[in-house]
Amino acid sequence: AESELLQAQKMEAVGQLTGGLAHDFNNLLTAVVGNLDLIRARATEPRITRLAENAFKAAERGSKLTAQLLAFSRTQKLATESVDLNRLIMNASELLNTSLGASISIKTELDARAPFVVADYNQLEVSLLNLAINARDAMPDGGTLTITTACDDPDNRRVMLSVADTGKGMPPDVIARAFDPFFTTKPPGKGTGLGLSQVYGLVRQMGGDVDIKSEVGKGTLVQLSLRRSIAGTETAAEAQAAAESGHA
Ligand code: ADP
Repeated sequence: AESELLQAQKMEAVGQLTGGLAHDFNNLLTAVVGNLDLIRARATEPRITRLAENAFKAAERGSKLTAQLLAFSRTQKLATESVDLNRLIMNASELLNTSLGASISIKTELDARAPFVVADYNQLEVSLLNLAINARDAMPDGGTLTITTACDDPDNRRVMLSVADTGKGMPPDVIARAFDPFFTTKPPGKGTGLGLSQVYGLVRQMGGDVDIKSEVGKGTLVQLSLRRSIAGTETAAEAQAAAESGHA
């Protein structure tokens, strides 16, 4: 419980910091990137071109990082609704396919009886994409990404959304720190360490939880346990039936 409190405090600190700074920073970087692009294009000396190119790339990386920070700070305010997980996954499949590339095959195992969940549709889609990108990074030689929905909770209160990969896996010390903002094992410019902490923050805000199971050399399973939506519709089929009988 103590570490959870610490986690929440860290998240809040990062959120506050970024809320104010990232926006201004982003504007400044836009100017830097724009000017460097001009210098790069107009430079007559090869050395200057190369230096401008390096600076341009670094500034672009900074710009990407601030964009992620902005997204991170925005997660403070969610627009939750009743979301059909299966539909969200199906709608995202094209985006996932293009983001993962040809060497990774995507499998979906969707439970048609999965009830709707309490979630912010767009933010949950971002989370799914975040998890998929992590899975891709863990499978540089290709592999399989499996997205599953399930409702095996005996109380029927929770619905699971899991993302599993056949990648390199995570040792225990990495799992322990995975949700920490800025914790990354990826080389500079590749990872920001904000992906999983963002997912964790979002899902907790939606009343859910995140669990990681991983084995080095075998793969990783990230499980989101989401709250079943009670006020709204039940399953897609029931929603349809309700809509047709005029009770929706
Ligand atoms: P980033 O991806 O920018 O490094 P994250 O917060 O998303 O930041 O992830 C933190 C770290 O957790 C990663 O650097 C990586 O070491 C580990 N990780 C996350 N997802 C996976 C995965 N699917 N397989 C192996 N390691 C992972």
